[in-house]
Amino acid sequence: MVRFSRPASFLSVLWLLVASSPLHARQSIVLRPDRVFDGLGLHDGWSVWVRDGRIAAVGPASRMDAPATARVVALSGLTLLPGLIEGHSHLLLHPYNETSWTDQVLFESLAERVARATVHARATLLAGITTSRDLGTEGAGYADVGLKRAIDLGVIPGPRLIVTTRAIVATGSYNPKGAPEFTLPKGAEPADGHDDLIRVTRDQIGRGADWIKIYADYRWGPNGTARPTFTEEELALVVTVAGSAGRSVVAHAATAEGMRRAVRAGVRTIEHGDGGDAEVFALMAERGVVLCPTLAAGEAILQYDGWRKGIDPQPARIRQKRTTFQLALEHGVPICFGGDVGVYPHGDNVRELELMVEYGMSPIEAVRAATSGNARYFAIDDEVGMVREGLLADLGDAR
Ligand SMILES: [Zn+2]
Repeated sequence: MVRFSRPASFLSVLWLLVASSPLHARQSIVLRPDRVFDGLGLHDGWSVWVRDGRIAAVGPASRMDAPATARVVALSGLTLLPGLIEGHSHLLLHPYNETSWTDQVLFESLAERVARATVHARATLLAGITTSRDLGTEGAGYADVGLKRAIDLGVIPGPRLIVTTRAIVATGSYNPKGAPEFTLPKGAEPADGHDDLIRVTRDQIGRGADWIKIYADYRWGPNGTARPTFTEEELALVVTVAGSAGRSVVAHAATAEGMRRAVRAGVRTIEHGDGGDAEVFALMAERGVVLCPTLAAGEAILQYDGWRKGIDPQPARIRQKRTTFQLALEHGVPICFGGDVGVYPHGDNVRELELMVEYGMSPIEAVRAATSGNARYFAIDDEVGMVREGLLADLGDAR
């Protein structure tokens, strides 16, 4: 069984195959770990032949016909696995116990935020994350597009990025908010109604968004409760406009009604899903809509508020989250590995995997979600997510 080790153990192979792959592009390397987790299951005694940055062959060592000149790297005691795919990151945010979200959005310069993001990108790669879907710059404009390009060009080390730029929110719903007479800069781009939503969706695509992120609900109800924001028609319009440009839509939704509207509108993934009920999970399972539960962010925020896990009783929000997560599992909703990292430290991404298991998923299911699962959900399974012939040699190791 794969046990997730803490970030450092992913180091060696990643640097060899990912960060420095252009230098080694012409090299042939045979990796000989104790076993290979190929994205679906474990295989004892398998080896992996890497050539020109791609997997040339994988299987029993005896049947590997790599050339005699290939360099053999013994990885005894290790399990080789596909590079993990983070489903929900914010590289342009840092933990809220360092600086609150509001202060980051309002008071940190774009230069500081990008400088921090380059450090976050490196930490993410070193944690074994070779691809990350980054879900909104939270006030840092289109900085994710430039960050992605800098990584692609090899200027800085980091995971391959899927970016969403500013994300879309309904007018009046999002933060920061101050005195009503002031118009503060928001953490996402407001848009409403037919023409505006079409324009903003297209504009974000034009500026580099790979996916469109929309907030189907937010904490703008009475007493700060979460309530739906957009109508189902508005959400469906965004899905149609994004879809015609080949972009999928991801929805932030924590209420059952927000989730329902988003699912019926045709979004691909739902983020958070705290208030999901049996009906909406059944609908998600039926339509193959994926849930990114962001368990680690929920726990981090409560701990910043003083909850001492393992000492204090479980807060009501954690009990509810456990219940809804199990309900989603029971209904067969596809589960993504996506922790909302940035709320907690970049590089600590595997916290989400540990919590997926703690909340009721089997370890093998959790690691499948983080590899072949996310690759399929994000439609990048022709390149990453498995240790399979022809795919990119994005590889990590676990003890
Ligand atoms: Zn998020």
